[in-house]
Amino acid sequence: MRPKVIGLIGGMSWESSAEYYRIINRAARERLGGVHSARSLMWSVDFGEIERLQHAGEWAALEAEMVVAARRLEAGGADVVVICTNTMHRMADAVAAAVSIPLLHIADPTAAAVKAAGLSRIGLLGTVFTMEQDFYKGRLAARHGLEVLVPDAEDRRVIHDVIYRELVAGVVRDESRAAYRAVIARLAERGAEAVILGCTEIMLLIGPADSALPLFDTTALHALAAVDFSLGGVDAAGNSFDKPIS
Ligand code: GLU
Repeated sequence: MRPKVIGLIGGMSWESSAEYYRIINRAARERLGGVHSARSLMWSVDFGEIERLQHAGEWAALEAEMVVAARRLEAGGADVVVICTNTMHRMADAVAAAVSIPLLHIADPTAAAVKAAGLSRIGLLGTVFTMEQDFYKGRLAARHGLEVLVPDAEDRRVIHDVIYRELVAGVVRDESRAAYRAVIARLAERGAEAVILGCTEIMLLIGPADSALPLFDTTALHALAAVDFSLGGVDAAGNSFDKPIS
C-alpha cells in the first residue's frame, strides 16, 4: 500500500502553511528513512481576500471558498482534507459534507494530546473568532471533555492583533512575545493547566521557554496527525503492516 495523499488547504497564512509542509515532510523522512517525503497536495488561497471576508463577517462566502478548495483537492487525488488554520474550522462540517474523503479536524489531535498528558483545564489562544465563537471551544468541551479558559477581552484583542498585524506577515517582535507571555501567565493564575496555541502562526512567536505551562502547538499536532493518516501502516519498504490509522 502506498502512503495516502495529504490534501492541504493552505495560505492562511502561508507563513504557517510552510511550517505544515516542513513538519509533514520531515516526519515522513524520519519514519520512512532515506530521502522519503510525504505525498501531498496544497491548495493555497490569497489570505488578503480571506482576511477581508473574516473581518467583514462574510462567513458564507468563506465557507464557499473552503468547499471549492476541498473539492479541488479531492479531484486532484487527495485522500484526506487538512485545513491549515484553526479559525477556518468554523466551516469544518460544511467542508466535510462537501467531499467524500475524510477531514482531519485540528481540534481532535490537539485534544488527544492534552488528554494523553493527563490535563483537562486548558487556556486557549487564537484569533478572536476562535476564542469567542463556539465552533472550536465547543468541540473541545463537548467532544473531548476539556474545560476551556480564554483570556479576558483586552488580552484577546492583543493576541488577535498580533496574529493579523504581525505573524501572518512574517513579523516576529520581542514586544509581542512579552505580551503573549504575560497573557499566558494570567491564564496560569486563573487555573489553566496548559495552553493550546490555537492559531497556526503562534508557534512562530512563542515556544516552551516562554511559558511555565505546557504548550500544545496545533500546527505540529495537526501536521503530525496528517502524517499518521498518510503513513498509517506503511513501513520504509512500502509494505503495509498492521497499525491503526488515527
Ligand atoms: N492561522 C490562523 C489560525 O490558525 C489565523 C489565520 C486565519 O484566520 O486563518 O486561526
